Amino acid sequence: MTENRTYASVILPLRLDWTPSYEIPQGETVSPGDWVRVDFAGRSYCGIIRETGISPDTDTGKIKPLASIERNISPVTEEEIRLWDMISEYYMCSIGEVFRVAYPYLKISRLETMARLREKEKARKQKALDKLLARAARIKARIEKKKRPEDIARLTAELRETEAGIAAITGPDIAGGTPESEASGAGPSSIVLTAAQKSIFDDIIAGNGNGKPVLVKGVTGSGKTEIYLSLAQKVMAEGRNVLYLVPEIAVSRQLGERIRTVFGEKLHTFHSEETPSARGKTAEYIRECRNTGNRYIVLGTRSAIFLPHHNLGLIIIDEEHDSSYKQDSPAPRYNGRDAAIMLSTIHHSLAVLGSATPSLESVFNARCGKYSMLTLDEKYYRAEEAGVEIIDTAAERKKRGMTGSFSRKLIFRIEETLKSGGQVLILRARRAFSPVLQCPECGDIPKCPNCNVSLAYHKSPDRMVCHHCGFTAAFDGRCRKCGSRLQGLGSGTQKIEEEIRTLFPSARTARLDSDTPKSVVEATIRAFNSGETDMLVGTQIITKGFDFPGLALVAAISADSLLGLQDFRADEKALQTLEQLRGRCGRRDRKGHLVIQTNRPEHPVFRHLEKGDAENLYTELLAERKEFGYPPYTRLVNLTVKDTEEYRADMMSGKLAETLKRTLASHASSWKHETVSAPYSPSVDKIAGNHIRIIRITLNKDKTLREMKKLLAVTVAGFEKSSRYQGHIAIDADPE
Ligand code: ADP
Ligand code: ZN
Ligand code: ZN
Repeated sequence: MTENRTYASVILPLRLDWTPSYEIPQGETVSPGDWVRVDFAGRSYCGIIRETGISPDTDTGKIKPLASIERNISPVTEEEIRLWDMISEYYMCSIGEVFRVAYPYLKISRLETMARLREKEKARKQKALDKLLARAARIKARIEKKKRPEDIARLTAELRETEAGIAAITGPDIAGGTPESEASGAGPSSIVLTAAQKSIFDDIIAGNGNGKPVLVKGVTGSGKTEIYLSLAQKVMAEGRNVLYLVPEIAVSRQLGERIRTVFGEKLHTFHSEETPSARGKTAEYIRECRNTGNRYIVLGTRSAIFLPHHNLGLIIIDEEHDSSYKQDSPAPRYNGRDAAIMLSTIHHSLAVLGSATPSLESVFNARCGKYSMLTLDEKYYRAEEAGVEIIDTAAERKKRGMTGSFSRKLIFRIEETLKSGGQVLILRARRAFSPVLQCPECGDIPKCPNCNVSLAYHKSPDRMVCHHCGFTAAFDGRCRKCGSRLQGLGSGTQKIEEEIRTLFPSARTARLDSDTPKSVVEATIRAFNSGETDMLVGTQIITKGFDFPGLALVAAISADSLLGLQDFRADEKALQTLEQLRGRCGRRDRKGHLVIQTNRPEHPVFRHLEKGDAENLYTELLAERKEFGYPPYTRLVNLTVKDTEEYRADMMSGKLAETLKRTLASHASSWKHETVSAPYSPSVDKIAGNHIRIIRITLNKDKTLREMKKLLAVTVAGFEKSSRYQGHIAIDADPE
């Protein structure tokens, strides 16, 4: 005797390679996207209905009922779940892991509170609205009875005021206000594009790319932002919404101010430094827009792709080359740029990627016709591109031309710049005072007890810090082994700052790196922007999207450290960093100057920069990638094995590599070019107590890719289970 039971599958915020089923209680109905609460492995979770009316493959006697159905929480949309699916497939993780990053403010109690507040607010508004509507009706009736023009005028004014009150509650879009009221109130918001900008704008609007993503390669200061904002205006005037992605929050602040002058209240920001409740509110506002018809523009970092978007007409991916778009950990290890392209396919939105120094991936996509590329080489303020000067520090040292980290030539350049009222920016890729300490007597180097790296010496307060796990130890200047005085090796940003204070005592200086407290970052940027400081020293953070009008000279100190040894992307990144730096200076009418101090003046990255033919370097780098089988010609997947025991990290990574090789070999006929590397130790092979081994898998970029990834994911999951090794292996598709 069977009753008529029905079942639904539920997405749980967990790493599961299957979707568990639950019984729908008699008399209840649920739909995909509904929030529910369920018991799973002895714990209560909130989850999302994925599919209803399924016939579960497990014994139905074992299936539990849904514990509750959370009707107060707005359901997740079909488009959201589609994006989660795409990301989980591409990045080889569970849909639950994607769900978890999409709803980090997941606490169901919080969602309930929000839903209650929203209901209250709705009721309050409705009450106020009813009152005003009744009043308007009363006034109208009175107007009809009046004869004297002054009475009618008085009452008409009263009616207008009441109607304005109604409009304020229902919103301009519903109250029949002009749909394009963005321009009102907010100051100088009209954008007048230059001829060059207009032609790019027109090309994009004309859709010459047939719906393909558009890559805008425009030199720094060419006004890419103005083009994006014009596109956003157009799209919003047509009643669709806009997502404006930036790699980092720091960049978004200056930009946010600019966007607000154009879009006022319609602008919403979304990033991980906002409080969960602020993010939750924005998400709910966006969700409500579906019903209210209000349009929005969201300025956010990568996680903003997970908002409940709808009717998304345009996605802007600013500074698309920036590696901050990639999420390192936890899963999904997604690249916000590529995930945004997935989002654009769901909403049929126009995707615009912009950069002065596009990623090789995007250039490749443009060259092979997957993206359409538009180029803008003209700076708005007509400044010439900054000149590039390479200083050979090895040669200078021989001539005794170095004072600390500075060459005589660079000191002269700085003095000259300061004298003429210009500002100076100095890039040093390492923070701290000295990146390494060493005992001159016994040679001992203080190391982090948790990681296989040396401790960096930080000043004021004096301490030794691990840059990988944050371990901090007191610093008394003495060697632990023999008691001699420790010596600092190399110069980090703190030391460079001290050096410039001595070399240029009258200059006002500041420093910006990840040691700078968050509360001070903005003030430091503002002070340099307004000319209150003359010199700013910093790490790569200073290359990101800032517009400093008085900046005339930029110098990269020890630029060799930008050129990595192991990383196949290092040269590309070095080029991008230096080209971005170059773009920061001479933004208005004066020609800027970029100085590169290096021991390797002949390196192609520096040479091409000097010649100003980055395009050729791109061609060379692409040829190299092709020759050695690197992306964008192939796809890489890294498997990272972490274990507190070194022997186990070695043993298990060895076994995993063997298993993978066997599995791939069994499919050898169609997939003979895939390679599984032997497990290797990365340059920092122990972090926070975990020994790290990496297995690198190179996949062909063809029709078999999806299938291969699935096979890999299944193999890894099977290995974890059969050898009881859950929680030690991380999968990273398209590692940075
Ligand atoms: P990019 O993003 O390409 O580096 P920006 O959009 O920041 O360049 O523009 C650089 C500077 O030029 C900014 O100060 C911007 O206000 C100004 N600018 C660019 N285009 C215009 C324009 N069409 N009208 C007014 N100012 C512009
Ligand atoms: Zn010693
Ligand atoms: Zn450490």
